Amino acid sequence: MTRQQVSDDAEALAVALAEARAGRAEGGVPIGAALVVDGEVLAVGRNKRVQEASPILHGETDCLANAGRLPASVYARATMVTTLSPCDMCTGAILLYGIPRVVIGENRTFLGGEHLLRTRGVEVVVLEDRDCIELMREFVAAEPELWNEDIGEE
Ligand SMILES: [Zn+2]
Repeated sequence: MTRQQVSDDAEALAVALAEARAGRAEGGVPIGAALVVDGEVLAVGRNKRVQEASPILHGETDCLANAGRLPASVYARATMVTTLSPCDMCTGAILLYGIPRVVIGENRTFLGGEHLLRTRGVEVVVLEDRDCIELMREFVAAEPELWNEDIGEE
């Protein structure tokens, strides 16, 4: 199977956004992610709180799980692409595996661990993508309780 190639951050974000939209279509929290290594999409993932009744499968952690066990040398060349600013759990996973670069669709809906990532030497790129913002705006308005549950609030 040939892996999908992406030529820049915007193309990689489009892959993550497609995952987010698939999640929304399933009734889930619309946050998607892609792990890109050497211009190839190694794995994708999406928040599965609803679909799998999981409190730990966020876009980024689902993506890491789907990528399977990887050597440190692969993580060291990886970019984690996510439609929304990564929460503390996903920030921790990014730091744990030594992923040096994170591309974020937007951080207006939610601002996660970007400061900590930068403090620890991770390159953080925020694209403020209109489609990502609009997807979350629509979701938060339609499903406020589900959104609050996902960020640990009531
Ligand atoms: Zn998360």
